[in-house]
Amino acid sequence: MSVIHTIDDYERYIGKEAVRRIKEKARPLRDMHVMHMNSTYYGGGVSQILSSLTLLMNSLGIQTGWRVVHGPPDFFSVTKKFHNALQGGEINMTGRKKEIYESVIHENAIRNHLDHDVVFIHDPQPLPLITHYRKKSPWVWRCHLDLTAPNRKVWNYLVPFIERYDAVVLSCGEYRRDLGKPQVFFTPGIDPFSIVNKDLSESAIDERLEHYGIPTDLPLVVQISRFDRWKDPEGVIRAFQKARKEEECTLVLVGNVATDDPEGAEVYRSLLAHRNERIIVKSVQDGALVNALQRRAAVVLQKSIREGFGLTVSEAMWKGAAVIGGNVGGIRQQIEDGKSGFLVSSVDEAADRIVRLLRDPDLRDRMGNAARERVREHFLFTRTVEQYLDLIGSFEP
Ligand code: UDP
Repeated sequence: MSVIHTIDDYERYIGKEAVRRIKEKARPLRDMHVMHMNSTYYGGGVSQILSSLTLLMNSLGIQTGWRVVHGPPDFFSVTKKFHNALQGGEINMTGRKKEIYESVIHENAIRNHLDHDVVFIHDPQPLPLITHYRKKSPWVWRCHLDLTAPNRKVWNYLVPFIERYDAVVLSCGEYRRDLGKPQVFFTPGIDPFSIVNKDLSESAIDERLEHYGIPTDLPLVVQISRFDRWKDPEGVIRAFQKARKEEECTLVLVGNVATDDPEGAEVYRSLLAHRNERIIVKSVQDGALVNALQRRAAVVLQKSIREGFGLTVSEAMWKGAAVIGGNVGGIRQQIEDGKSGFLVSSVDEAADRIVRLLRDPDLRDRMGNAARERVREHFLFTRTVEQYLDLIGSFEP
């Protein structure tokens, strides 16, 4: 049976004072009804965040629900194209795409009676919901994407929906857009008690790796991500092949496919051609395997080209791993280059850092220790909870 944690359980990580502060901020908000809505219960960072966030908010006395947009495959195909374009990709903005998007959201609005004290809408999929309600309370759009350089066509189409919201939350200051609404900036964070992050014994790690037939005779270089081009799995393979000419190692690419991401299966299939004895590619849905790999890896990569935040980075850092991340968006906030990991901008840089880390166990230890401390200070999700409490508390009753 799963254990439901309360804020007191987090005291060992964040200290008495932070627990006291969070309780104090939650007190005046007790019994409020808050709703979060996104587009998947499983796969991807937002579902991880919401599963921990909604439970802890309830334990703090705020009645917090979580709903999911329902839609047919062509809806998710359109919204994935919007997602890609918001991160800077190309898009052919047709009337048909807009019609599918808006009509499915209209159907969802009919089914969902959102009469809450505060409503949080996550990411672009459910964004137009707001047009279907006579709004009596604050609505917040929480966008988790990397908005460094959104495609103008999709952005201009979405702005009229966004501007109906009372506030917008983005993960980095550099994602700020020209909007006539308040913009608030805070990152998500990781839950040290989740299956992906909780402590694991060495024997439990061995058991998971053995279960999936992952060889441990050579040091492991690992990337764990949804199968998505923005995570640059092809670049990871090229960096690994280059590094392997200098240092023996095994590459493990593990990923899953979120229910709202129809491109994942295709990306996974395209990687299978690279598989060999030293390049392991697995599509699995097992948080304990993620946990075991992040703990056992000699080097963890998150070589994204765009990344709103990148929970996998903090997850690995929390376990004391030496992480090499793409020098983009949310990853740049987490890793201090050369101190709590490495930031890279090319395959060659990634290959070079893999070799340096494989050759130098002391460097791995130093970076891993700094990384864990950095996550403890900045990227545990209790800090995110506190920022949500501040935001909810900032609205006039
Ligand atoms: N994840 C997982 N299994 C996988 C791949 C990823 O459980 O095979 C989890 C990962 O541990 C993290 C989340 O999915 O908690 C991905 O969040 P992130 O912010 O890194 O990326 P996103 O998928 O939201 O772009």
